[in-house]
Amino acid sequence: MKDELKYDVVIIGGGTSGCACAYNCAKKGLKTLLIEKNNFLGGLMTAGLVIPVMKSSIEDINCDYYNKLIDTAKKYSAQITYKDKNDGWLNPELLKIVLEDVLNFDNLEILFETTVSEVKKNSDHIKSLVLNSGLLSVPIEAKHFIDATGSAEFSIQCGCELLHDNDMLQQNSLRFILGNVNIEEFCHFIVQVDSNEDITNTYRNERDTNNKLHFTTACTWDSNKTWALDKYLIKGVEDGILKDTDRAYFQLFSVAGGDNQVAFNCPRINNYKNNPFMYSRELINAKRAIWRLYNFVKRYFPGFQNAIITNIATQTGIREQNRVKTKYIFKKDDMITSKSFDNPVLKANYSIDIHSDKKDGSILQKTNSYELPIESLISADFENLYVIGKILGAEFEAQSALRVQKSCMSMGEAIAKYIAKNKI
Ligand SMILES: Cc1cc2nc3c(=O)[nH]c(=O)nc-3n(C[C@H](O)[C@H](O)[C@H](O)COP(=O)(O)OP(=O)(O)OC[C@H]3O[C@@H](n4cnc5c(N)ncnc54)[C@H](O)[C@@H]3O)c2cc1C
Repeated sequence: MKDELKYDVVIIGGGTSGCACAYNCAKKGLKTLLIEKNNFLGGLMTAGLVIPVMKSSIEDINCDYYNKLIDTAKKYSAQITYKDKNDGWLNPELLKIVLEDVLNFDNLEILFETTVSEVKKNSDHIKSLVLNSGLLSVPIEAKHFIDATGSAEFSIQCGCELLHDNDMLQQNSLRFILGNVNIEEFCHFIVQVDSNEDITNTYRNERDTNNKLHFTTACTWDSNKTWALDKYLIKGVEDGILKDTDRAYFQLFSVAGGDNQVAFNCPRINNYKNNPFMYSRELINAKRAIWRLYNFVKRYFPGFQNAIITNIATQTGIREQNRVKTKYIFKKDDMITSKSFDNPVLKANYSIDIHSDKKDGSILQKTNSYELPIESLISADFENLYVIGKILGAEFEAQSALRVQKSCMSMGEAIAKYIAKNKI
């Protein structure tokens, strides 16, 4: 094998956690290869249209990558800071350019449109891979392998054990973006109909550095809150424009650097992770729901009269699919009791957040601050395999809090630093 095909670290998946890991591996001088099946980076942040990076950490540990990402996004006018001081509002399309700038290192190579076709291993060690890049087979050797696929596809290929502690399936979402919205007109309307700033958050009299107004607003069919928008959604159902299930979860945000764009964190669809036919039918249902929601906002919300559909996510918003057995399984109890660990990966307080398919069945449970141990990212089956992002070794409820983007980024960063310090 030629020397240039030997790496210190190979990362499979160039999404939220994988990019953070690649950045930190490269910064630590490790010869790094990042493999991504799309022709751009970002995963759910770009292909899934998931915004914003939720404010989750209570202490800035393992946030070097996040800070670099925000600074770089500012240079491309792809970021705004909300008045709650969350600076994680990013433009999903521009991020494709921003991320390649952030990951521009001589010792980091990126292979796009590439997946793993073969894994060579012994009982506790992964030795090498054969990659499938376009029509070419590329053999690769590395000391360390990182699964950042979001689905645990690589760990499954390696034969790792998965966690099965809960039969509940969280709802998926297929996000979309509308353009040509008159944001000023909609903001004027929304602050008049909804004065609850926990739900509807607009700049009101504040503007971003580009002199633009921004907003977020939401409505669900859960009855634990009074939702000001519900009467419009109910009217939409009565008028035959919406289905009742379209009321399940309805959330909108203006887009950083996306002039006159509004991003939707909906529609939600059922999660048939073990049935590819049902899964695909749900994706057809999702597009039908997008068409209904689009016609609904055009008719009922001032500012949306001339809206157009500009983006439908090319990656389904899967909140939880597979979690991998690691050296330590992080428990809901560890989270609730704020258990401390040596060398924590992150310190966060994002809530347990489970999207149920049942009316009033979703859970948003506040937590105190919690720490995550590095052992929840180290495979129980192979000594040189690590899992980062939403596939970490955590119980179902704990994963529902840890899956947010900033925590996923800290996981990638912590593993890169761990390898650089202890393993090379
Ligand atoms: C609907 C929805 C809404 C959310 N809302 C928020 C929010 O508002 N704020 C927040 O902070 N978090 C939110 N989250 C959570 C967060 O976005 C994700 O949990 C997080 O981005 C997951 O990061 P990841 O690195 O695990 O996966 P991803 O970002 O999905 O990255 C996985 C990458 O691996 C690539 N890949 C997959 N398989 C292979 C393969 N075999 N070979 C090569 N590449 C491969 C994919 O193309 C992708 O680029 C939301 C999640 C969902 C689903």
